[in-house]
Amino acid sequence: MDRCWTGERLARRGLPHAPTCPLCDQAVETMAHLLTGCSFSRMVWFEVLSWIRSTSGPPTVEGDFAEWWSQAVRTAPRQLRKGTSSVIMLTAWWIWKHRNAAVFDNARPSVTSLFNDIRSDARLWADAGARGVRQLLP
Ligand SMILES: [Zn+2]
Repeated sequence: MDRCWTGERLARRGLPHAPTCPLCDQAVETMAHLLTGCSFSRMVWFEVLSWIRSTSGPPTVEGDFAEWWSQAVRTAPRQLRKGTSSVIMLTAWWIWKHRNAAVFDNARPSVTSLFNDIRSDARLWADAGARGVRQLLP
């Protein structure tokens, strides 16, 4: 819903903000950039989608994230759709958390660290009974 306080939204309100994306330092930070266009996030998507053996590629730079998410789920085998949707949601959430750690805690962005966090949480979600996640995990 574009309600997250990205750099672009903070700028619109005249609030202090970083001039570029805290993950890639290459573009204005919008939610669309963070989820689809960011070179850092795209590496994370590639790692996660490879890990779950998804046939979908990462979201496209100009594409709409929600449409990509929907298509990635629709094109997954029927028994893996719920899990695929959950892992995509988890990844988007972790990209935002990783961004917040960079902004508020001066954490250095790391694809490896973020990917490990996502895998660890996905296993916890599977253990907690999230539908379809266990079947998806290697
Ligand atoms: Zn970026």
